[in-house]
Amino acid sequence: MERVIGIDLGTTNSCVAIVENGAPAVIPNRGGYKTTPSMVAVTEAGKRLVGHIAKRQAITNAENTVYAAKRLIGRKWNSPQVKNAVATSSYRIVEGPHTDVRIALRDKEYSVPEISAMVLQEMKIIAEDYLGQPVSKAVVTVPAYFNDNQRQATKDAGEIAGLDVIRIINEPTAAALSYGFGKNVEKTIAVYDFGGGTFDISILEIGAHGVFKVIATAGDTFLGGEDIDARIIDWLVQGFKEEHSLDLRQDRMALQRLKDAAEKAKCELSSVRETEVNLPFIISSGRNEALHLQRTLSRQTLEELSADLIERTVDICRQTLEDAKLEKDEIEEVVLVGGMTRMPRIQSAVAGFFEREPNKGVHPDEVVALGAAIQGAALTDDKQEMILLDVTPHALGIMTFGSVFEELIPQNTTVPTHRQKIFTTSRDNQTAVKIIVMQGENEDASANELLGEFILTGLRRAPKGTVEIEVTFEINADGIVSVRAKDLDTGLEQSIQVTASSGLTRDEIKDMIDASKDDLVDRRVSEDFEAAKQEAEKIVAEIERLFPQVEQIVASSDFGRDAIEKARAIVDKARAAIAKKDTAAVKEQLDGLTRTHRMFKGVVAKT
Ligand code: AMP
Repeated sequence: MERVIGIDLGTTNSCVAIVENGAPAVIPNRGGYKTTPSMVAVTEAGKRLVGHIAKRQAITNAENTVYAAKRLIGRKWNSPQVKNAVATSSYRIVEGPHTDVRIALRDKEYSVPEISAMVLQEMKIIAEDYLGQPVSKAVVTVPAYFNDNQRQATKDAGEIAGLDVIRIINEPTAAALSYGFGKNVEKTIAVYDFGGGTFDISILEIGAHGVFKVIATAGDTFLGGEDIDARIIDWLVQGFKEEHSLDLRQDRMALQRLKDAAEKAKCELSSVRETEVNLPFIISSGRNEALHLQRTLSRQTLEELSADLIERTVDICRQTLEDAKLEKDEIEEVVLVGGMTRMPRIQSAVAGFFEREPNKGVHPDEVVALGAAIQGAALTDDKQEMILLDVTPHALGIMTFGSVFEELIPQNTTVPTHRQKIFTTSRDNQTAVKIIVMQGENEDASANELLGEFILTGLRRAPKGTVEIEVTFEINADGIVSVRAKDLDTGLEQSIQVTASSGLTRDEIKDMIDASKDDLVDRRVSEDFEAAKQEAEKIVAEIERLFPQVEQIVASSDFGRDAIEKARAIVDKARAAIAKKDTAAVKEQLDGLTRTHRMFKGVVAKT
């Protein structure tokens, strides 16, 4: 049977794993290392280097050595993140033909997926060497916060590397899979993942029969160990400037050496309290004399330099708990992922916030690849019962008349999923509608991210508001979105798979909104009713679910019987209002329904 490998394609390091004889294991590379630097270089002779060998020559070939390509994948040239990378990278990042990003190595320009493909290919070779047979299928992980473009670009990278990426899964989900593997636990856990380039926090529920459900997820794709390295570099550069009035940043080679030294010092300070940064001959004084950099960095100074970055991760944790409507004490386990979680201050910040010691049983560098391998095995083995339920990191919807963002799939909805809504034409005799697909949480469409657009033509000429267009959003298990619009009159359909964003700036999006406002769809008048109905039905279903339990608990008292009767009356009223399509009446019942639901939950929780 074809084996499926699991690959953690990291910003700094990558890791490959496989399930063997029912147990997941990391595959070491030829050098015996379990992780491989996600670095790619081209030598003067035109030779391509990947991994440790690329890292080792990075200082002498800084301009042609790519690191942290993951920060660029799936991004557009004009995005702030790319601008930042252009300003801070030692390799050349240039604009591609589709406002995309290219990386120039020697005399050739590469797309970012091509660079990531080289890393993936290396992981494929490591696995093939070990297994002694070809490998063509993989599960690859991405940060939970990656949007569709970034996911799609990662899939493309797999394809370029000759791998069929059978599933893309979120890194924290993979970590939870690995944590929960073989344990018969039912728990709510938090996965705190602080790696080289990204920070993620996810809250997951591990349920019976191997159901892993992500309840909420958030993160920052531009907050990682490299930012802490950058603080150390700033500190070293500043100190050197004060002493010698020379700016080390002017020298690419010096900067690369500083980068290395900063990271090394940071890692050392995880186990010792003080370390020396020693860089002889770092720069020439201009008077025929070489200068050295020598400075002692203490753990305390490092902690001061990085305090606000660590605090930012804690803020994101706090927000995510709020989104998940959970209290700290409802988190039963905290799993640490990513190399940065070896830093004692980070461990104590996490322990301090969650008010519990993080789990020490998983290896922060390997846990994600192991989870990907477990998922790979589950997808190919019928006997495995594990189900993986993930959620959308962003809300998805379309732009409607008046630049209003109309959400179809809310943030944190379990995927795979599909949702439908009916819209109408926004002006008389409108024969075409433009469906502008966006993701984000802002009601003002122009503040959200554009994912794609398409036009549905051939509509019947009719007064505005009378032609109905059904819009369907579908997200598959890889988190990739497709959107369909259907004219309910004629059955005509148009659809797109959201693959690449237009790379437009906010201003360009605003202009586009102005230019196409005549072609947009409008909310249906009855939409208000639909929204109220959906909300009411959801609460009614919850109440119904709890009814048997609550009845059993409270039916012995008069007070309890009275409460049950009242609850039934409210549910009946809500149902009647829904049947009559009376929006106001449905809304009127919402308060009572919510109170009843809360009371039911309270009764069940207390027993
Ligand atoms: P990852 O993306 O998970 O491979 O994490 C890599 C990041 O973890 C890099 O920024 C490393 O410098 C950092 N890292 C690795 N080991 C340690 C350590 N012992 N102490 C502090 N940071 C570390």
